[in-house]
Amino acid sequence: MKNNNNNDAFTNALEQLREVQELIHIDKNIFAQLQSPQKVLEVSIPVKMDNGQVQVFVGYRSQFNDARGPFKGGIRFHPDVNISEVKALSAWMTWKTAVVGIPLGGGKGGIIVDPKKLSENELEKLSRGYVQAIYKFIGPSLDIPAPDVYTDPKIMGWMMDEYEKIAGVHVPGMITGKPLSIGGSETRGYSTAQGAFYVIREAAKKMGLEKNATVAIEGFGNAGSFLAEILQKNGYRIVALSDSKGVIVNYMGLDVDEVKKHKDATGSVVGYAGAEKIKTLNIIAQEVDIFIPSALENSITKENVKNLKAKMIVEVANGPTTPEADAILAKRNVMVVPDILANAGGVVVSYLEQVQNSYGYYWSEQEVLAKLENIMVESFANVWEEKMRHSTTMRMGAYALAVKRVAQAMKDRGRG
Ligand code: GLU
Repeated sequence: MKNNNNNDAFTNALEQLREVQELIHIDKNIFAQLQSPQKVLEVSIPVKMDNGQVQVFVGYRSQFNDARGPFKGGIRFHPDVNISEVKALSAWMTWKTAVVGIPLGGGKGGIIVDPKKLSENELEKLSRGYVQAIYKFIGPSLDIPAPDVYTDPKIMGWMMDEYEKIAGVHVPGMITGKPLSIGGSETRGYSTAQGAFYVIREAAKKMGLEKNATVAIEGFGNAGSFLAEILQKNGYRIVALSDSKGVIVNYMGLDVDEVKKHKDATGSVVGYAGAEKIKTLNIIAQEVDIFIPSALENSITKENVKNLKAKMIVEVANGPTTPEADAILAKRNVMVVPDILANAGGVVVSYLEQVQNSYGYYWSEQEVLAKLENIMVESFANVWEEKMRHSTTMRMGAYALAVKRVAQAMKDRGRG
């Protein structure tokens, strides 16, 4: 394993690929092409801020692989966005769409910005400016963006509107995660969490975990907060939650609805009155059955993995476990449900959204949920089978399945 002390995201993504190659030995010529994205764009986006001054933002779009279908993946607005991260996220999207068997490739975008510091007007100009800059490289059968960290349906609406103004026609399938009124899909708002729930339910059966298992969730954004709610409704006990400002714990169980109200009112879960006052506010170190990283990359590292006590980890964030930490968890027999399966519910419903856009015919919430559940349950079973076949971890089972599917598509296109 390469030394990667600063946890560079793309180095980690390539390390995972190298590990799976030892198991499945895909054609060398194809493997060589999976070492870098097919295309990476870097753009500058000038925005006239409310004070009249122009600020220039840097944005990226990485198009990793489109052998199985158009590039697909979200756009992240975050101050720590960097080219290595965007490339890694675009590789992970490629494996994610392959593991759940939807006909899409993998891409990802990002803008270096702290959106909390922008006014609504500035945020809209930035979102529209990004579409102007990458217009020629996206489209419903080319590359389809979606929400990610700190981007939401409102931003998707602005982006679609900008794209359609330039195109001069309606093209709702050019982006997913849109508001319902303009071609969004039922359930897309909570589909990442809902998909993760189906996967947790299947994994808990394999592990023999009781229904009232205890859970800690790191990150209270779109995925983490909906997942906390869904798990609580289904009998799980949520004992620890966190966000970028801190951690709250209550071993009797936190009331997720009340925590949400507190966060809406104050901007953070911290300070919620129903939490215990304890000293070690380290979410990884909590005594729980299931730990769910649902924030950013590199939250479980070789330094802190020894504090982790959970029996099962469900990666709702992308890339939360470094390869070194992953190897330690495998030795300890901790079950890690990998990101490319655990958080795929978001892109699955994005795909269903696109299908509805091209039909011009929309399904009910129940219909979308049934389709999502089918895909997630079947994908879990496929990954499990692959894991057993290779006597390996769930991550390598998922990677084996995904990378073989991508390699097959490349071979069938004559890209070998
Ligand atoms: N950003 C989400 C992810 O990382 C969703 C991507 C999509 O819907 O295209 O999977």
